[in-house]
Amino acid sequence: MHTTTGAQSRPCDFCHAHPPRWTFPARDATWRACSPCQGLIVLDRWERLLKRAARAYLRRVGSLGVPALVGLSDHHDRFRATRVAGAPAPLAGRGR
Ligand SMILES: [Zn+2]
Repeated sequence: MHTTTGAQSRPCDFCHAHPPRWTFPARDATWRACSPCQGLIVLDRWERLLKRAARAYLRRVGSLGVPALVGLSDHHDRFRATRVAGAPAPLAGRGR
């Protein structure tokens, strides 16, 4: 069992694969993104982001069916629908 550091150990909200480095403001929550995902989001590369999330899901779960792919796509759609204007903010390396 390894030691976690509370909220900091929450993964990227988009690919679940890397520690998040950025936060994006949204109406219902603050979304966290790792640096590669953040780069794709600010460039509006949603297809690339979905492929990245799908690859990460496949690595994590071992299989990827259409329902899971649709789920990932819906997840990203929800972010786009609730995202508010504002630049991503770097996530502090310590504390909350
Ligand atoms: Zn990510």
